[in-house]
Amino acid sequence: MVRLEKGKFDDFIRSLAEDYIVYAAVTAGGKSSFKVVASAGEIDEGRLLTDRSPKEIFFPHSEVLFEYDGDGIRETKKAAKPIAVWGLRGCDVKSLAMLDKVFGTARQMPDNEMFEDPYWKRKYDNSLIFGLACNEPRSTCFCNWLGGGPHSEDASDIFVIDTGEAFLMQPVSDKGKAFIGKMTDAAGASAAGASVAKASGADEKKAAELASGARAMMAEPPALDGLDEKLKGIFHEDIWEEMSAKCVNCGACAFVCSTCHCFDVQDEGKGGKGKRIRIWDSCMFPIFTREASGHNPRHLSSDRFKQRVMHKYSYFVDNYGESLCTGCGRCVIVCPVGVDIREVIKRVLSFEGKGAR
Ligand code: SF4
Ligand code: SF4
Repeated sequence: MVRLEKGKFDDFIRSLAEDYIVYAAVTAGGKSSFKVVASAGEIDEGRLLTDRSPKEIFFPHSEVLFEYDGDGIRETKKAAKPIAVWGLRGCDVKSLAMLDKVFGTARQMPDNEMFEDPYWKRKYDNSLIFGLACNEPRSTCFCNWLGGGPHSEDASDIFVIDTGEAFLMQPVSDKGKAFIGKMTDAAGASAAGASVAKASGADEKKAAELASGARAMMAEPPALDGLDEKLKGIFHEDIWEEMSAKCVNCGACAFVCSTCHCFDVQDEGKGGKGKRIRIWDSCMFPIFTREASGHNPRHLSSDRFKQRVMHKYSYFVDNYGESLCTGCGRCVIVCPVGVDIREVIKRVLSFEGKGAR
């Protein structure tokens, strides 16, 4: 573990920006999101959770896949530098690792070719992720329900703890170890800029105190064992109408969610030239599943609500062995009618109707 004094933070970010496209939490117009920064002064350092999730760094809301005209197809240009993300909270680091299972895992196509998403991979595979510990979780955070925690290092390259006076940096992955190695190596110091010192025993004690203090601020989680099976068991019950009664299918929960990844592909063109664009979509929207015949298999609001919950806590478990939810709480914060996914989970767990197992 190394210690970077806050007074050196600007040097650090400026130096990092020489080798990477650096993203960090920025607040503008009252809304926060991850944006490209060149200096520490642009960063909203105290921000616990950004309003918009960081998935848009690697999976933008709208992304041109290629352009075409009479001469053929041209792919969009690759960025000249790799991406570094500073200050991702543990839930958001985990969300990127989940999305990497979807976009970054090679899978067999009907013609037996293997396919993985090149647009995701060329950004995520080379990225350097600085996870940032949460010393004071919000009341809407429930990462501890889903195997996470406010000081979770999982999937970070470098895990950072803000002690108030300094950032303590713990390398986690091989990439992180190589980066910190360069920072501490006098010969490579210029590559990483700001000088760091080895963390002291007092630093490590402080880090442990902050971690146990943060854990103590979170309520005890309910046991979620068997949630996926319980969901399958109640698929045909009318509990879904009760749980979705308030939902207006605005899709805000899916758009702020760090793990929702439905998209549509559209062509924008005229006169033989144009571009193909990938755009976020949501299973909460009525036309998401409408077929060309006009038939819609998820024609009811409750069916769409059920799909989102089933995908997160049952289907994704079947496919990838974990829930597609990090407990970030963004959907709880943003829902205009007060739907709280934690209450939905608790209601499912307590349901004792005929479909319950
Ligand atoms: S934000 Fe709330 S109202 Fe909007 S789709 Fe999600 S659950 Fe429904
Ligand atoms: S479902 Fe809600 S709590 Fe879970 S990852 Fe998405 S926004 Fe966060």
